Parts: sequence; structure tokens; C-alpha cells
Amino acid sequence: MLIFYVFLLGLIVGSFLNVCIYRIPRGASVSFPPSHCPNCKEPIKWYDNIPVFSYLLLRGRCRVCKIKISFIYPVIEIITGILYLLVYFKYGFTILTVKYIIFVSILIVLGMIDLQTYYLPEKLTFSLIFLGFALAFISDITILQSFLGAATYLFPFFMIYAYGESILHKSILGFGDLELVAGIGAFIGYRGYFELHLFFTISFVIGAIVSVILLIKKQKGRKDMIPFGPFLVLAAIIMILK
Ligand SMILES: [Zn+2]
Repeated sequence: MLIFYVFLLGLIVGSFLNVCIYRIPRGASVSFPPSHCPNCKEPIKWYDNIPVFSYLLLRGRCRVCKIKISFIYPVIEIITGILYLLVYFKYGFTILTVKYIIFVSILIVLGMIDLQTYYLPEKLTFSLIFLGFALAFISDITILQSFLGAATYLFPFFMIYAYGESILHKSILGFGDLELVAGIGAFIGYRGYFELHLFFTISFVIGAIVSVILLIKKQKGRKDMIPFGPFLVLAAIIMILK
């Protein structure tokens, strides 16, 4: 029964994450005004704002102006629900589940914003770093591990940021990626060289596979930019669920 509530919580928070993903890059407040249709600006009634369910009932259209609403919205809600469940299965009825659902929630917002805008808002990356340190007090790592995590996760990516461009003639990472990776390190904490190496490898392997697929499908040319943030987000989620 608890499983059902964890999933439901994920759907509801996922609905709020959608608001954040849409509004934060536009510099808008996430709490005001209440949800409205991006086309006709008509406020969305509470009964039309039920995660996933309302989308299916209205067949993905605004009730008032009938414009198509992106299917990304219910997908984000379902992904959030599933990730909450996976965190719960891994950490059980403990404070760690709370810590890691906060982590996963911020990562979803950052990953989606980077995917859509090629930009990681500083407000969010610094919140991630700060929360990583703060939540170390109630978690399975010490505050020292949290600081060390931020520094050691940052280091290899900083080297790539600083020297990668002169070797590859192409910048792979932006400054926002460095802030994101420091936040991930602060949350996961330093747990030995193997873990650090694993995170680094997973993010680059996923990045390489996706880039090759995009190149083959000709969706991206050699000179196009591919945001690296979503790969860091995926790698971080794999690290806490493995
Ligand atoms: Zn509308």
C-alpha cells in the first residue's frame, strides 16, 4: 500500500517539476500565477490538473482552446513516480529515501532544462551543492565525505573543461556542468576511487553512445552542441540506484 503512495507522491511532485522545467528558464515564478494554458492563458481547473489522468482524459488538449499539450508533461510525471519507487525499493522506509528523492527531483529539473535550453540555471546548481552538504548531516555520509565528494567529482571534469578544448578543438562541458557535477559529488559523497571512476565512466559512455546515435541519425552534425548535463544526471541516478 505504501508503494502506491510513494508512486502517487512521485506523480504529484512530477507535476510540480514540470512547472519548474517550464518556468525557471523563462525567469518566471514557480508558485505564481497558478498553472495556466501556455496558449490561451486560461487557468487550469484543479480537476484538469490531476497528474497523467487529466492528460489522458482530455486526450492531451487544453479544455478551453483545444491546443495540443506536449506528451512530455505526463512522461515526466511517470518517470518521477517510477524513480521515487526505485529509490524507495533501494533505501526503504528511511531518511535516505527522503534525501534521494530530493536529489532525483532536482536532477530531473536540471536535466530537462539543459536538454531544452543547453543551459543549467545557477540558482538550481548551487541549491544542489548546498543541499548536498546540508543533507550530509542526516545521511549515510559524513560532512567531510560530502565536501570531498564535491571536490573529487569536480576535479576530472574541471580538467576536461580547462584542457579538453585545446586537445579536442571543441568544448564538451560548460561551466554549468561543473556546478552540476560538484552538486552530485556533494550528494553522493566520496566513497573511494572506484565509485568516482564508475561515475565518470558511466557519464562518458552514455554520452558517447547517445552522441553516436544522434550523428548516425543525422539529427546532430559534428559541430552541433550536445548538452552534457543530461548524461551527468543519468549517471548520478544510476549511481544511487545500483
Ligand atoms: Zn488553452
